[in-house]
Amino acid sequence: MTTMTASSFSIKDFLKSFMLVELFKGMALTGRYAFARKVTVQFPEEKTPLSPRFRGLHALRRYDNGEERCIACKLCEAVCPAMAITIEAGQREDGSRRTTRYDIDLTKCIFCGFCEESCPVDSIVETHIFEYHGEKRGDLYFTKDMLLAVGDRYEKEIAAARAADAPYR
Ligand code: SF4
Ligand code: SF4
Repeated sequence: MTTMTASSFSIKDFLKSFMLVELFKGMALTGRYAFARKVTVQFPEEKTPLSPRFRGLHALRRYDNGEERCIACKLCEAVCPAMAITIEAGQREDGSRRTTRYDIDLTKCIFCGFCEESCPVDSIVETHIFEYHGEKRGDLYFTKDMLLAVGDRYEKEIAAARAADAPYR
C-alpha cells in the first residue's frame, strides 16, 4: 500500500516536471506583476510614510521659552547599551544643573531608542531624519550644540510626532 502511494506521487511529479507546470506557473506570476501597479519607490523623489516612532537622527529639545529641557540627570547615558553618550554636568549661577557637555557618537549608536525612553523631560529624542551622512568618522560625532541645532530646526515635526504617539504610551 505504501509503495503504491509513493509510486503514484513520483509519477505525478514526473508528469508535472515533464509538462513544465512549475515553469508556466512562474511565468504566469511574472506576467501578472508585469501589468500590475508598480510598487517600486523612486527614492529620493518619492518617500514612504514614516511612523511617529521612527528612530532617526538624535536631537536635544528646548522648552517654548528657549530653555534647554535637559536637566543633566544622565539617565540616557546610563541606559545607553552602546555607551555612545557622554555627558558632563555643571551648576549654573541660579543653582540649576545643566550639561556642560552632551555628545553622541553616532558611529556607536544602534538606534535602540533607550535614551529617548529614559528621559524624564523629553529632551533627547530621535527624529524622523534619516538622510544624513558623514564622510569621515568625526562627522558623526554630534556635540551638544549640534544636537540642539537639530532640535531647534525640527521642533515642530518632533512635537507633532510626540503628539501622534501620545495615546499609545
Ligand atoms: S539610541 Fe540607543 S544606542 Fe543610540 S544613543 Fe540612544 S540609547 Fe544609545
Ligand atoms: S537628555 Fe534627558 S535623560 Fe539625558 S541627561 Fe538630559 S534629562 Fe537626563
